[in-house]
Amino acid sequence: MISVLLGFSDMLLSHDENRDEYFMRAALREAERALDADEVPVGCVIVRENQIIARGYNRREALQDPTAHAELLAITAAANHLGSWRLEDTTLYVTLEPCPMCAGAIILARIPRVVFGAYDPKAGCCGSLMNLLADARFNHRPELVGGVLDNVCGELLSAFFREIRNRNRNRTDFSGDM
Ligand SMILES: [Zn+2]
Repeated sequence: MISVLLGFSDMLLSHDENRDEYFMRAALREAERALDADEVPVGCVIVRENQIIARGYNRREALQDPTAHAELLAITAAANHLGSWRLEDTTLYVTLEPCPMCAGAIILARIPRVVFGAYDPKAGCCGSLMNLLADARFNHRPELVGGVLDNVCGELLSAFFREIRNRNRNRTDFSGDM
């Protein structure tokens, strides 16, 4: 059902306005990889000159690492690719509004443009709880676009948490039978 919802097609970049949705769909594919690995489904790609130079998906459980967020893994991969910690001329696409750690890494990497999907009212620091990327006291302020394909990005997360709740409920029912 989830893959039907996403409805990936290899659409061409016919309009500039489609570009963000096109690359957000690539980030959604990364989120699906997280989902397949039983991780909270968040995915990220970093784009330079219309090419994806790095990808990442949440691997917190697999690595047992609280910093293994999609954005951080993609930022490290992009820096390796470019041979530079400065991710100049890049756009970071992520399916969920970045948390404070990832927003901080975006600032440190000097990423000039950030596009995210669903808003995160619990941990988002790009508009929800606060907006680190818009704080003029930092020496770098990326351009920020939120809410791109937010329904699809949000539904992927909702489906994951519904599944977890069902699983836990079944487990409880089962132990109740014992
Ligand atoms: Zn994060």
